[in-house]
Parts: sequence; C-alpha cells; structure tokens
Amino acid sequence: MTKTVNHVVKRPGRRHGDPQTAIPVAEELVTVPGSPVIDGDVSYYSREDPIESQTVEKSADREWGWTVYIKEVYDYRKKHDEVSEPLIEAAWVSGDIEPTAEPDPEHDVTTDIRDRARELGFGEVGFTRYDRRYTYASKKSWAKFNHAICLALEQDYSQTQSIPSLEAEFAHFGTYEIAGALALDLAEHIRSLGYHAQVHSPNDNSGAFIPLFVEAGLGQLGANGQLLSPHFGSRARLMLITTDAPVVHDEPIDYGINKFCEECQVCVVRCPARALLREKVWYRGVKKNKLVYDRCRPVMVTYEGCAVCMKVCPIQRYGMKPVMEHYIETSEILGKGTPNLEGYELRGKGYFGPGELPHFKGKDFEFPHGTKEEWLFEEFKKKVEANGGTPNTEAVEFANELSRLVKEGVSRTDE
Ligand code: SF4
Ligand code: SF4
Repeated sequence: MTKTVNHVVKRPGRRHGDPQTAIPVAEELVTVPGSPVIDGDVSYYSREDPIESQTVEKSADREWGWTVYIKEVYDYRKKHDEVSEPLIEAAWVSGDIEPTAEPDPEHDVTTDIRDRARELGFGEVGFTRYDRRYTYASKKSWAKFNHAICLALEQDYSQTQSIPSLEAEFAHFGTYEIAGALALDLAEHIRSLGYHAQVHSPNDNSGAFIPLFVEAGLGQLGANGQLLSPHFGSRARLMLITTDAPVVHDEPIDYGINKFCEECQVCVVRCPARALLREKVWYRGVKKNKLVYDRCRPVMVTYEGCAVCMKVCPIQRYGMKPVMEHYIETSEILGKGTPNLEGYELRGKGYFGPGELPHFKGKDFEFPHGTKEEWLFEEFKKKVEANGGTPNTEAVEFANELSRLVKEGVSRTDE
C-alpha cells in the first residue's frame, strides 16, 4: 500500500541550470529538520573536550598506514600529497588576503556566491553560521569569520561503484584536489565582491564539516557516518569557505533520513569490519550511529580506503528522489538485497554478495593507537615489563626514540 507523504522537499537540480528536484518524505519517516541535537551538550563537549584532528590525535596510526598501503596506493598517496601541498599553503593564508573591491550593500551576495559556486561545479552549496563548536582545538585560533559557505563536489559515479579499489581512490583524492583548487577561485570572487574569504582546505580539514552541512539543509547524517545529500548521497567531498560577507543562512531540512536509515541498515550489515553500530546513540550532544574506529581503520588502510559503506548506500547509488519514491510506493528499500547494490570485492579475499562477509583474524585489527609518543611509551612499558622491570637494549632504544620525538615536538612548538 502506498505510504502517506508528509511533505515534499524542493531542491536545486544536480547541475547548475538543471530543473529543480522534488523529494517526497513519507509521514512515518518524519523526525526533525537536520540532526537530533541537545545544544547544551554540544557546547559542553566543545568546551570541556574539544575535538581534534586525527592527524594530531592519532599520529601513530597515520604513520602506520603508510607501511600498510600496497605500492600503487602508496605511490598515488605520495603524489596526491605533492599536488595538495601548494593548495593547502594557499588556503592557510587565504583569510589574511584583503578584499579587492568596496562592498555594495545593495548587491545580493548570497545569490551571487551560490551561482558562482554552482558555475564552478560544486553540486551542493549552502550557508550557515560558522559554528566553532565543531572546529578542531588546534584550528580554533586560525578560523577567522562567522559565516560558513558549505561546498560539496560530486565524485565520479563509475569509479565510486568499483569501491574498494585504486580506481575509487583516484576519484576520492582527485575530487579533493579539484575542490581545493576551485575553492581558491571562489574565494577570489568573494574578495572581488568586497569581503574576506578563508578557505578551509579539504586536504587539511579544520574541523567536523558534516554538522554545518546538515545545518545548511544540504542533507542529513546517514548511518554510515556520512552526509547523505539529495543527488549523490555521500559520493561527494566536502569543504568550507568562511567569510565576513553578509550571507543569508539556510535552514536545516528533514529529508526523512534519520528514520530511513533505521529501516535500511544496508551499510551496517555490509561493512566488512562490522564497524557500524545498528542503534543510534547520543554522542557529544548528537543522536547518531557511531562508527567503531578501531575496527574500521585497519580495514580502511589495508583495502584501498574501503568505503564499502559509501558504495552500498542506495542514496549514493540511485539518488534520494528515486529511493524515497520507491519507499512510498512499495515500502521497500531500492536495491536492498541485490548484488548490484550490496556486492563488493576485497583484494585477496574474493567477492561478497548479499548476506556474505569476509572473515578476519583478531590480529588483523591490531594497530598503533594514540599519538606516536603515546604509542612508543606503551611499547616501552611492555618491553620493560617483559624483562622483569629492568630495561633491556631494545627498551633503551625505544626510550631514546621516544625522547627524540618529544624533543622534536618541543622544538616544533617553540617555532
Ligand atoms: S570504511 Fe569500510 S570498514 Fe570502515 S565503516 Fe565503512 S565499510 Fe566499514
Ligand atoms: S546504506 Fe542505508 S542505512 Fe546506510 S547510510 Fe545509506 S541509507 Fe542510511
């Protein structure tokens, strides 16, 4: 029986100039616009335990990743880092560049910036308050302006469907490179309107971007931990520009995703590492499905970025409109249970169709935790304990390495 439609969300078309799209939302999927949030809790956690970049907080496993990549991934990632470096450097100082014109108070800067961003190729563009509660501790003093322009650049459809693969990594990192360059152009345009623009490089994130995208009405948070946007779900790379231009903020939208994910669960049951939790939990003031990092990370690093949770998502594969229409007409999740949506291959392990998952051993999930210094210290303790409390040669070598790292850290801080 056809389900009752509660409301229809109208959004701009997928490409600039395309006709609007209309997404029906079933009555039973209605929850809240955006994400369920306890505002006071978000503020509390941001104040008492601010989030930090994984590059800082988990430096031990970042370094370990390079030792695990297959040669092709290693070489490609090195090249990506080389290409990204000048983009990151340009973004880093972008907030200090002065505008190149006087602002015109009569000019509609919101429409102007949205149109320019869409012309440049960004598939989703939205405006919201720059909520510093989602900024990394190490970037809080860097971020300058109070308005955020949220920009999503779609990544190639076919390459993404080959996940996990080197081909899909080309799409993943290649899209970040393009987005980083396009954003510098957009920032220049904003300066020509008379305002400052700070580029938050997608290759050197300044914080958690998804909450801002949700606030700007560009999608909702999926059970896979990714932004599910109307046209391409999570098949997009996200970035921000912050500005002092007086832009009009968008509003969060209920696309029905909070509830739809409870019905769908495809990513949860297809994750090869069993890293996604079925039930939503309250975490740092937001109700969401939590990802178990310690299970995801080793699989992600070993198998070309994994991202099976992106590949098997029907919103990514077919788009939100057909998926929601199909749900209203049939009560079913489009593609669920089919090899087309759910099948994937893991290098060296074979093909896994619906209902099939690879097996891993406990040791496959062992990897260095915390910062490099913390991890070395843990190893040092183990070696001393194994030697009855007396440091042996190996333990002394560890201690020396640890002290070198700490000194390096001190001199970096002094710079
Ligand atoms: S990246 Fe892979 S291992 Fe990690 S949550 Fe997604 S499907 Fe699971
Ligand atoms: S696969 Fe299903 S449950 Fe997972 S994010 Fe996509 S819609 Fe939500």
